[in-house]
Amino acid sequence: MMKQMKIPLLLVEDEPHIAQGLIFNLEEEGYQVSHVESGEQALEQLTKKSYALIILDLALPGISGLEVCEQLREQENQIPILMLTARGTEQDRITGLSKGADDYLAKPFNLKEFLLRVAGLLRRASWQPDNLENEFYSFGKNRINLETHQAETTHGTIQLTELEMKMLLLFFAQEGKILSRGELLQQVWGMLPGTETRTLDNFIVRLRKYFEAEPIKPRYFRTIRGRGYQFIQNPE
Ligand code: CA
Repeated sequence: MMKQMKIPLLLVEDEPHIAQGLIFNLEEEGYQVSHVESGEQALEQLTKKSYALIILDLALPGISGLEVCEQLREQENQIPILMLTARGTEQDRITGLSKGADDYLAKPFNLKEFLLRVAGLLRRASWQPDNLENEFYSFGKNRINLETHQAETTHGTIQLTELEMKMLLLFFAQEGKILSRGELLQQVWGMLPGTETRTLDNFIVRLRKYFEAEPIKPRYFRTIRGRGYQFIQNPE
């Protein structure tokens, strides 16, 4: 059985209907979401599992989101934090950021903006799945060590570059989804959509050379004409 790696997020939100909506949309985006309802539970959960990002409501029963934030930073935990709050005042925003939150969103917020902020924080943190249980990602005869970036492929052992790894993680996290060229360029190189698409195409050619038994007949890294690229972990 092959493991599928998804980016794990921790959602700390006590209002059930808000939590449900966020979980639904985050999972649609391909993230793996753990949900807790209080700051105490959040701190406990963080001792059990590694997360790429915390989405933290400010007003919680028991200790507040701010206190959670403060405690984590005191423990030198640098996990990215996106703070959510109903209070949209400038003072709250400043307090949140001064306690170590990385970004801040006032309720009610636009869902699209929320998802963009999550993606933006993950990108800025250049998230590495260092402490995850799934140290390897496999597809076909390929096996990639997510810590050392070494890959065992059909064509031998290779050492992946940082950019190659970044792109692979994007594909793996959103397995089965079609990623547009603009999206990939922006996420991997941070460029504006529409620039340097040849760089991207060359990258895909390289990935196919590494991981496809027949690079000219790709099964895993597919071109979807007019739309972009798609990674399939278990093709027919
Ligand atoms: Ca709340």
